[in-house]
This record gives sequence, structure tokens and C-alpha cells, in this order.
Amino acid sequence: MELALKIDVDTHQGLEVGVPRLASMLEREGVAASFYITMGPDNSGRAILRVFRNRGFLSKMFRTKAVSMYGARTILSGTILPSRPIALSFPGVIRDLKTRGFEVGVHGYDHVRWQDHLDDIGDGGIRNELGDAFEAYRAIVGEPSKSFAAPGWRTNNAALVALDAMGLDYRSDTRGVAPYRCVVEGRLLATPEIPTTLPTLDEVMGRRELRDDNAVRDFYLGLCKPDALNVHTIHAETEGMGQLESFTALVCALKERGANFVQLREVAWRLNRAELPAFEVIRTTLPGRAGWISAQGPARAATE
Ligand SMILES: [Zn+2]
Repeated sequence: MELALKIDVDTHQGLEVGVPRLASMLEREGVAASFYITMGPDNSGRAILRVFRNRGFLSKMFRTKAVSMYGARTILSGTILPSRPIALSFPGVIRDLKTRGFEVGVHGYDHVRWQDHLDDIGDGGIRNELGDAFEAYRAIVGEPSKSFAAPGWRTNNAALVALDAMGLDYRSDTRGVAPYRCVVEGRLLATPEIPTTLPTLDEVMGRRELRDDNAVRDFYLGLCKPDALNVHTIHAETEGMGQLESFTALVCALKERGANFVQLREVAWRLNRAELPAFEVIRTTLPGRAGWISAQGPARAATE
């Protein structure tokens, strides 16, 4: 069984606290992983306000224990308290990940702006978000990022095309079943898309049948396909903080079953782009997640 851990870092607190904890645990267990860092301001308070505006917010707040998970400072960030920079507050943490052999990529600039307003900001706004994010990464790491993971698994045609022009090794913007190349308005893009294949913990937390850590662990073990690449997205703010113990138990159980942990860049390097299947990118919804996400859609025969 092959498993890629994709670790999204959405907040100031996630990078400050969650990332070092996850890195220590993964290093101790000898497990490879790929981190995707939000490079701009932490406006996560605005995202939490959005959750309040959605129906069912109370059950979600209780289910995910938002306040205890994120802390009051994060909940208010970008609302009544000013937003703090994420990556630029902790460049040492990011460089340390690289030094320790972890993969580090870009998870957008303003996570909340991308997730909530991607379709409103236009081609120029998208280019600005990407430009600022990749510039901040280059300034911190000293070399360009070769990968991108869309905030909130949200993308659109303009973003897909703009990212394709950047010549990345791959991107991981969608939910799906296996690596593919995106078809946008009949055109086959060059960059491989490596989708997240498993549900996230915050999507399944609170399900009646998943009452304790053992049940969660067995749930994920049952979902991992033995003969395929499994991509599991975790969050520095969740699995790196309140759920670290539970996540560590899952990692150990996967190791016991002989799972081979790979970084997404290793997956990308071995892909033969000419042989990758072509798929449209569609919008859909997922149980336990508010709003739409981008997903691997119908197969398409596309001309280059
Ligand atoms: Zn994110």
C-alpha cells in the first residue's frame, strides 16, 4: 500500500505549533510527508464567520470543536483582530522542514480570499494570489516552489491555466481517485494533477460510528486501497494539534501494515505525462464539508 501524506497549513498557529509537532512525530516514525504552506495573511477568522453563515454551523462547531482546535486568536484573526502573516512569521520553521528532508510546497497566498472569492477576483486577482505566494516561498526557501495545492480544493479554469503556465512538477488541487491531466475547454493541460483520494478528518469527525480513535484508525485503514496510490490530506491545525495522538496511532498502524509513505513530488517524478489519462475538473460537494470543491470529473479524449 502506498500513501502520500499531504499536510495543509492554513493558519499562523498551525505553522507555529502544529507543523513542528507533526515534523517531530513523522521524523521519529521515519515517515515521509509533503507540507503545503499558506504564504500570506491569516484571515481564518473570516472563514469561521463564513461557517457561521452556513446552515448547520452549530453542529459543525460542536462536532469539530472549532474554538478548542483553533484557539480564540485564530478564530478572530482578520476580523476584530488584525490578520498575521503565516509563512513570513516563521521562515525558520519552513526552512527547517526542507533541511529535515520534507517536501514543502505552496498552499495559496490568502487562503480565505482564494477559497471564498476565487470566482470573483478575476484572472488578475488569481495571478496576484499566485505571484505573491510563489514570491514569498522563493524569498523564504531560496528556490522556486515546484508544486501547488489549492486552498479548500477549489480551482477554476483561470487558475488551472495560470498554474499550468508556471511549469510546476505537479499540482494537487482536487479530490479524485488517481493522477490525471486536466482538460480545460477542450485543451489538455501539461501539469499532472495528483488528487486527494481520502476524506479529511474534519469531514468525518463526529460521525456516530467513529466514536473513538480506534474506530477512526480502522475507518482509514479500511479506505486505503492496497494496490493504488492513496493521498491523505491532513491539517497542521487538526492532526498537528488536538488530534495528534489519534493521527500518530493511524501512522503507526499503517506502518505495521507495511504502508510505503511517499512524497507527492516522488509520485510526480515517476509519472509519464504522455500516458496520464485526461479528465475534466468538475464542482461537487462532499459529506461533512461546507460548499463546493473541485473534483476529478468525466474522462475526456483531448488533443494537446
Ligand atoms: Zn487549506
